[in-house]
Amino acid sequence: MNITIAGVGAMGSRFALMLHRAGHKVTLVDGWKEHVTAIQKDGLQANLNGEEVVAKLPIYLQSEVDPTLSNDLIILFTKAMQLEAMLADIQPLIHDNTAVLCLLNGIGHEEVIEKYVPRNQIMIGNTMWTAGMEEPGRAKLFGNGSIALKNLVADPKAEQAAYKVIETLNSAGLNAQYTENILYAIYKKACVNGTMNSLCTLLLANMADFGDTTPAHNIVVKIVSEFAEVAKHENVDLNVTETVDYIEKNCYNRDTIGLHYPSMYQDLNEHNRLTEIDYINGAIARKGQQYGVDTPYCALITELVHCKEQLLGAK
Ligand code: NAD
Repeated sequence: MNITIAGVGAMGSRFALMLHRAGHKVTLVDGWKEHVTAIQKDGLQANLNGEEVVAKLPIYLQSEVDPTLSNDLIILFTKAMQLEAMLADIQPLIHDNTAVLCLLNGIGHEEVIEKYVPRNQIMIGNTMWTAGMEEPGRAKLFGNGSIALKNLVADPKAEQAAYKVIETLNSAGLNAQYTENILYAIYKKACVNGTMNSLCTLLLANMADFGDTTPAHNIVVKIVSEFAEVAKHENVDLNVTETVDYIEKNCYNRDTIGLHYPSMYQDLNEHNRLTEIDYINGAIARKGQQYGVDTPYCALITELVHCKEQLLGAK
């Protein structure tokens, strides 16, 4: 398959390398000049589960894409706030038969994507794979993961295209599954991000240490309840007890991921980068206003993260 990765940070690098190693023709598009220059010079490098890998892949700055590139699949892997600018720049690469897959964290990206891509070519989902950047041109890629995805519109041709994308991802060992109730999966992951990412970022804590505090349970219940109330208005039935249980069992476990500082923590507190808060807790606060649902926890958390971004001069 001819595949373009639009946004080749940590996750884009993982998908690019795995798909390239499975024999697909992978092209990269990104907006971070230093990173693009490093890849043009030395290839895309990574520590992939302890193995040093390098791939000489074609890469373009998103403002300089080659409109003659043929694309069966474009995988979007920007941060949420970079998504619309990327879509505007790569519009010449989106042809009639190009499937466009979005696996970003957060809620409601399809509303942005459908301004640039016909709805029957859009696939949405999420992923449990993880990745990090070490420096421009170099990623660190450890562990295993999975992908849940589905075509945005109910249409047999779109569904067939989604299964083809799944087959392609699985040929690279990416462990993708067609997921009928994809909005449920997206909301459930957003609950993890909307509790662990934002709270650990604000409190300068890892997940297990936060979980040990006495108010932790109540705060997580309150936030997840706001997500669930909003989700109801989108016909998503999110069980609060089950979701809180899932977060507490998985995220606070010191033997697995409990000692981890979530990516939002790392972006803001370690790298002075803006966060995706507007697309996680912020999306719930916005949608809450639209649906007449009170979301005081999500609204306050969103504002506090923005305060912190401004105090730190994040970019
Ligand atoms: P990322 O920040 O590594 O990359 C996103 C974009 O930002 C890329 O275009 C990249 O080139 C650019 N970028 C990265 N570092 C930069 C810097 N220092 N200066 C300027 N530009 C920089 O993001 P990611 O971790 O690949 O995440 C992409 C999406 O996938 C997000 O929605 C994220 O929430 C989601 N996600 C991430 C992970 C993870 O483990 N990283 C896991 C699941 C989902």
